Amino acid sequence: MSRWIVLKFGGTSVATAARWQTIAEEIRGRITEGYRPLVVCSAVESISNRLEEAIARAIDGDHETALAAIEERHRRLAAEMGLDADALLGKRFEELRRLALGIALIRDANPRLRARILAEGELLSTALGVAFLQRLGLDATWCDARELLEARPDPDANEGRRYLAASCHADFDPELRARLEGTAGEALITQGFIARDPAGDTVLLGRGGSDTSAALFAARLRAERLEIWTDGPGMFTANPRQVESARLLRRLGYEEAQEIATTGARVLHPRCLEPVRRHGIPLHIRCTAQPGLEGTVISAEASDGAAGVKAISARTGLTLVSMETLGMWQQG
Ligand code: ASP
Ligand code: MG
Repeated sequence: MSRWIVLKFGGTSVATAARWQTIAEEIRGRITEGYRPLVVCSAVESISNRLEEAIARAIDGDHETALAAIEERHRRLAAEMGLDADALLGKRFEELRRLALGIALIRDANPRLRARILAEGELLSTALGVAFLQRLGLDATWCDARELLEARPDPDANEGRRYLAASCHADFDPELRARLEGTAGEALITQGFIARDPAGDTVLLGRGGSDTSAALFAARLRAERLEIWTDGPGMFTANPRQVESARLLRRLGYEEAQEIATTGARVLHPRCLEPVRRHGIPLHIRCTAQPGLEGTVISAEASDGAAGVKAISARTGLTLVSMETLGMWQQG
């Protein structure tokens, strides 16, 4: 039986060849430590927004420029990685054009089509990423997240919600674990944000949903740890861009982290904590640009310092003081 670890890399973490070098080193490190890594990736930075933009343009029958920019961004990354974009991504670019044309013809985009188009962001980034890792000598296998993660049927949800903000259960999934155990490759690379519905259609877990995907995979596999690699060193006592004396929080409990994530810090998606809390899986926040930093560890163990105010989050028109473990969100 493998010792699973889930590593999630966000949009900026998959945006350059240098970041992918770091990803490769981290994967290698985990394999050496005896883990089997499942690597969950976001779309390249800003690509999901640009795909939304392309959908809006396609409704006006004018998506060519938007699609060309998306293609160009991936060609640039492929060139930086020394990879052949046409061979690796050509079919995906064609598929995007076909989908956009479908929208342009009827001047409307239903949620099912929107989900298919947005899913291409993560499919593109992982297609490039896995080829790069293999070229660096890693035994890495690409997996389609839609074959691994099925959304729960929700008869009360409208179509938009079912396709664009679906939810999945976070129970231990021995069948998934057995399937991944039987998949070749020391490291498995898959997409965040996307899943399938019971009918087999592509669905999304809501914008920013890659953290949630990673947490769901960690929960379902009963992974030993979840690592979320992002563009900052971890969770802070306040927004470091606004408060000079903001301090990095080294250790947090799940509830404290939930309060901070829910009240404004953009480090973690608030939906990603519950699945790991339920299974007691430690979550490490790490910084891809500074892999030497320890980051923030979120776990069931005692946190930094004594009880008291842990962090302050500011929102325009509203200031919220977040307190330890009292579950006081929205009580003030
Ligand atoms: N790429 C998706 C988004 O930007 C999901 C994610 O990165 O978390 O919303
Ligand atoms: Mg994110």
